[in-house]
Amino acid sequence: GLFLANIILFVLTYYTKTLPSLLFFITFLLCWALAMIPCFGWSAGMQNYYIIILMLCFFALHGRALYKFIYSGIVLVIRMLTIIIYGGIKPVADVSPITDKMLQITNISAVFISIIFISYVFSQKENEAESKLMKYNNRLKEQANTDQLTGLSNRRKAMDYLEDVNQKHSYECISIAMGDIDFFKKVNDTYGHDAGDEVLRSVARTLVEKGLESSFVARWGGEEFLIVLPDCNGDNAFMALERIRKGVEDSVIKVGDTEIKVTITFGLAEYGYNNNVEDSIKEADEKLYQGKTNGRNMVFY
Ligand code: GH3
Ligand code: MG
Ligand code: MG
Repeated sequence: GLFLANIILFVLTYYTKTLPSLLFFITFLLCWALAMIPCFGWSAGMQNYYIIILMLCFFALHGRALYKFIYSGIVLVIRMLTIIIYGGIKPVADVSPITDKMLQITNISAVFISIIFISYVFSQKENEAESKLMKYNNRLKEQANTDQLTGLSNRRKAMDYLEDVNQKHSYECISIAMGDIDFFKKVNDTYGHDAGDEVLRSVARTLVEKGLESSFVARWGGEEFLIVLPDCNGDNAFMALERIRKGVEDSVIKVGDTEIKVTITFGLAEYGYNNNVEDSIKEADEKLYQGKTNGRNMVFY
């Protein structure tokens, strides 16, 4: 009976998560021990309930550490007082040796199971909190690496990616392309900034859909996109980019009632591990510029 009351009270304490029910539980245990020790004597082991009272404050309370230590000190003092008050007391109840053993076993089992239960419940809670934090952390990381408008990787992520590729040397060859939408300023001026945003989103989608499965696409800035094609030499990359370029040229972007068409120019550079990433990006940039001056809507290689 006492054991059941224990568990029920603890569950109540845990699920209502209120200080009053916790205090009630502690008071109950305390009174229980204080009432039972003179009744059945020390050997019944009622005093072991103090251990539960002690550990509860560390698990169930969220206050400052100082308060927990003060609380622990109070529990210790009460425990000492119990010794002083009930020191050489004779049990009131006439306890037979068998009953005494039974009481000992029951009490120590109740204490053990309570401690196990409390520890389990609260360590479980801790694990949950930790995995929640980890998930939140991952989401933050993802957000820091993603371009809000297009959902593509952003420039920071692109740099990390290239750095990674550069260090691992895991591909035979890599091609790097820089793309820039042609006359995009005109799109903004003609249709408005929001329509421009919609065009950016649409082009981003086309870059991913028409590209190779293995390619990495990032928004490098404004209306500039970086495409990295791993295990792809310049000639193969050229063909892949031509397909993407054609895809952009052919797609009709609907914004409300208006239909917008844009083209894109690419500059393409082959990246070897002997030259560094920045140089290859610069080369792709220069090729892009040449593509712009040579008529746009092309892949310049
Ligand atoms: P070019 O063919 O030479 O590339 O001409 P362009 O007009 O595309 O080049 P320019 O660099 O002069 O213009 C880029 C424009 O892109 C200017 C800027 O307002 C616009 N832009 C940059 N970022 C965004 C954006 O996030 N949303 C919208 N709507 N426009 C943007
Ligand atoms: Mg442009
Ligand atoms: Mg530009």
